[in-house]
Amino acid sequence: MTAANSTFSALGTTIFEVMSRLAEEHQAVNLGQGFPDEGYPADVLEIAADQTLHGWNQYPSMMGVPELRQAVAEHGRRFYDLELDWRTETMVTSGATEALAACLLGLIEPGDDVVLFQPLYDCYVPIVRRGGGTPRFVTLRLPDWSFTRADLEAAFTARTRVVVLNDPLNPSAKVFSREELELIAEFAIAHDAIVVCDEVYEHLVYDGRRHIPLMTLPGMRERCVKVGSAGKTFSLTGWKVGYVSAAPSVLQPIAKAHQFLTFTTPPNLQQAVAYGLRKDASYFTELAAFMARQRDKLATGLRQVGFEVLDCAGTYFIDVDLAPLGWTAGDEAFCQRLVREVGVATVPLSAFYEEDPLTTVVRFCFCKRDETIERALDRLDRGLAAMLSSSADRHD
Ligand code: PMP
Ligand code: GLN
Repeated sequence: MTAANSTFSALGTTIFEVMSRLAEEHQAVNLGQGFPDEGYPADVLEIAADQTLHGWNQYPSMMGVPELRQAVAEHGRRFYDLELDWRTETMVTSGATEALAACLLGLIEPGDDVVLFQPLYDCYVPIVRRGGGTPRFVTLRLPDWSFTRADLEAAFTARTRVVVLNDPLNPSAKVFSREELELIAEFAIAHDAIVVCDEVYEHLVYDGRRHIPLMTLPGMRERCVKVGSAGKTFSLTGWKVGYVSAAPSVLQPIAKAHQFLTFTTPPNLQQAVAYGLRKDASYFTELAAFMARQRDKLATGLRQVGFEVLDCAGTYFIDVDLAPLGWTAGDEAFCQRLVREVGVATVPLSAFYEEDPLTTVVRFCFCKRDETIERALDRLDRGLAAMLSSSADRHD
């Protein structure tokens, strides 16, 4: 008998890894896993290179280098009017993934209930379970990924201690409205729960929308953890530099978990991200403008080849509904065949569900240069109809 933790050993390999490896194997255009292939800020890269050659490359402070923690606090003030004490209310992590693990392991006590909205990012639930929490799901409903007061009433219990909110939401491309946030805040306050706010796409909101951190709502400053990621904000997903902001009493147990997860994050990258977070406001508006253009380009092409494209208010993902194509074999089969036969990698939405998965929606990633999007659209234009008709033949 070999040792294995049942929570993790019961899991498959994450869909992002699966689709990226399939994309490589089939030389597909990879619109599955979310990573940009253009738009890396050259000055941020230069600082990282300079810091690698000339800076401090030994263990930095466990909570992060002061420059980055100060920059996180300044960023909170500049964009959201949040007053954060960088010494007691900020912490640097190895990506948002580590931040989320530290939050969930640090805040959940076995027996606690944790409210999550699905579809959801796939790393949350295993960590909730490993922490001894019981996930309670609020399932968002198409067409606008909405929920009601009754949905929250059904999910919150007397044991609810933690809520996880991903806003803007991957994979739904939803940006929660102020009214929706107010409703979540009302329930969090009534149940004395902490809300872990995964806001990695905070600067990727479109069409004049503004991201509203839940932490800025009345009564929420002391009961929210705000998680950000340099991977998304600077189009450098491989860097894995994340940051956490929370009131001191909330941050302390999270820091206790962080010290034994990764303890620190490469200091050269932290210095570069500190510089990046202080960049001129135009950097952040141009980033969103670029992504919105790529979204529109991909959406137009997807409509032309026959997909029904769902609204995309934020993130770098856009979803399509397969139903109008007459496809009935499910999203997973669709993605498997698309990558093999058409040469375009995508992600099935069912991978983002724990209960009653939606199986008719597929996610495309648009944080790509023009040529990548054009190549994918060209392949869809030439191969999708054949794929659909050959499956119709097979079903007949
Ligand atoms: N949360 C969400 C919603 C994400 O899409 C991602 C994707 N990378 C992460 C967290 C993880 O971020 P990081 O790469 O900084 O760990
Ligand atoms: N967040 C990225 C996505 O949703 C992937 C991150 C990962 O590969 N773990 O595509």
